[in-house]
Amino acid sequence: MRSVYTLLLKEYGTLNWWPAETPFEVMLGAILTQNTAWSNVEKAINNLKNKNLLDAEKLSNTDNSIIAEQIKPSGYYNIKTTRIKNFLHWYQQSGGYQKLLNLPTLDLRKQLLSVNGIGFETADDIMLYAFERRIFVIDAYYRRIFKRLGFIAGDEKYEVLRLQAETDFDGSVQEFNEYHALLVEHAKRHCKVKPLCEGCCLKEKCRYE
Ligand code: SF4
Repeated sequence: MRSVYTLLLKEYGTLNWWPAETPFEVMLGAILTQNTAWSNVEKAINNLKNKNLLDAEKLSNTDNSIIAEQIKPSGYYNIKTTRIKNFLHWYQQSGGYQKLLNLPTLDLRKQLLSVNGIGFETADDIMLYAFERRIFVIDAYYRRIFKRLGFIAGDEKYEVLRLQAETDFDGSVQEFNEYHALLVEHAKRHCKVKPLCEGCCLKEKCRYE
């Protein structure tokens, strides 16, 4: 995994994810990005910003219908509003960001996963990009690229792949941050559903035919 990382980093450079101004914005973005493209999330986040709602307390005290209206561009807006409210309930009951920062990594992850509507990928986006914990995010792009490279079958359970990635890649939190961002970039530029293998920096390693 290290050599793939090195090639991707050489190709795309440092990407400095997550595209957000605060950890709270990262957390909301992680929920909003479920089943949609990032460009739609940006519109939803901008709407919330324009309404001055990128704040846990303000958002908690806002009617669901108003939140749903603002996040409409991200799709599934009623479901996502409920998920955001579930998340906010937990977040505030837990004492907010500074308190949560003190929790050990596995405890924090377990708590996040107990929130209705927060699945593995969303929890791990939050763990890595909002709390800077050394957790590898597994997503559809990871499965696609590493399956084509011949590293995985592609249909393994989430936790199997995550633990394998965290064992096989001896990187720092910052490198975990970059690796996920680089995989997303590579999946968008070359390793699309129909791959553009010409000029791909991983071509020498790839088993895709
Ligand atoms: S060679 Fe093609 S299939 Fe393999 S990683 Fe590159 S783009 Fe994906």
